[in-house]
Amino acid sequence: MAAADSLRHILTQFEAAAERLGLDAGMRRRLVACDRALIVSVPTLMDDGRLHVFTGYRIQHNNTLGPAKGGVRYHPDVTLDEITALAILMTWKCALMGLPYGGAKGGIPCDPRAMSRGELERMTRRYTTEIFLIIGPDLDIPAPDMGTDEQIMAWMMDTYSMQRGVTVPGVVTGKPLLLGGSLGRREATGRGVYYVAVEAAKLLGLTLEGARVALQGFGNVGRTVAQQLSQEGCRIVAVTGSRGGRHQADGLDLERLAAHVADGGRLEECPVGDRITNAELFGLPCDILVPAAVGGQVTEANADQIRARILAEGANAPTTPEADAILRERGVLVIPDILANAGGVTVSYFEWVQDLQFYFWTEREINLRLREIMSQAFRRVHAAADKHKTDLRTAALMIGVQRVAEGHRLRGLYP
Ligand code: GLU
Repeated sequence: MAAADSLRHILTQFEAAAERLGLDAGMRRRLVACDRALIVSVPTLMDDGRLHVFTGYRIQHNNTLGPAKGGVRYHPDVTLDEITALAILMTWKCALMGLPYGGAKGGIPCDPRAMSRGELERMTRRYTTEIFLIIGPDLDIPAPDMGTDEQIMAWMMDTYSMQRGVTVPGVVTGKPLLLGGSLGRREATGRGVYYVAVEAAKLLGLTLEGARVALQGFGNVGRTVAQQLSQEGCRIVAVTGSRGGRHQADGLDLERLAAHVADGGRLEECPVGDRITNAELFGLPCDILVPAAVGGQVTEANADQIRARILAEGANAPTTPEADAILRERGVLVIPDILANAGGVTVSYFEWVQDLQFYFWTEREINLRLREIMSQAFRRVHAAADKHKTDLRTAALMIGVQRVAEGHRLRGLYP
């Protein structure tokens, strides 16, 4: 999907919620405008001795309810528009979940899989130095997103701390445990998707034992969702990566798939079940479909082939507004990104709180709190959808947008 599209999609969704909330034009303008947008050059010495100048972005969309929060994406398709769209989404996501944050996102157009560890480290450290002035534990707190992980967060934390002359664990979340990371953070997004899928299944009277699940994406998020749902008795009938994947109607052997990928193998070449393309995945008979890869995957070209009863958006912005309308018409229950994948930022919040207090919780405490927050958010969104006779996405956005609008009203306009 063209990145300009993701911004159009996010703004279309916003307008639908703003309309129903009856927000005036001034408030709407205020709510879509970004507080700060920083574009930086990231000169990086590559292993072959060449100097490459990457472009880095950090967008703080809105900090009305607290410091800005959001991931950093390393992916070849990253653009300013896409990062802006994702920053806006973070604002609604944090507000919906009741987290004391605004929304932000950062990113660098690059292919992390084609870069060495040294190149990634040098690029990350320079990027962190360039955005140093606008990040901090009470200002803007980056986290992992597509293409970034705990190691990248460790380098960001170290670079920031070296500049400040003091160790500041709370400047990023999603760090390694030893450096102030949180138990359960790595699995949090996937676990959150699982918790809301359980709620949605309850709502539809769908028994999870034997339910068929198809997933796009077998990264951190997709793998965790698959594992959790399979522990619940679901059959994982298909999993795909960027070049396709595997399908088996009576359920794939997840452990073999995970081991194959961990050994550096390509998912679509793993000798379990049959090969399947991403296009075929969306037309498979299944009960729960989880897009957990890049955005813009469910479009008007494939929405009418989807046979799932529940579509849980593990990815950010996987569904276009046109596809949304088709799915609504066809009675597919879409659990929107800002709800379905909010487990990640929720445990990021737990991590940040633990860092600020230098006091750490058990994994059991974290998972219990996460489950409670996710399930409550699902029920709140469902009740709002019922009340306003709308879909879960519009209802979730209405709650998030309304909170930020109310925050603006209470704070007033400065000066
Ligand atoms: N990148 C994740 C998201 O899109 C997590 C952000 C965070 O933990 O701050 O929600």
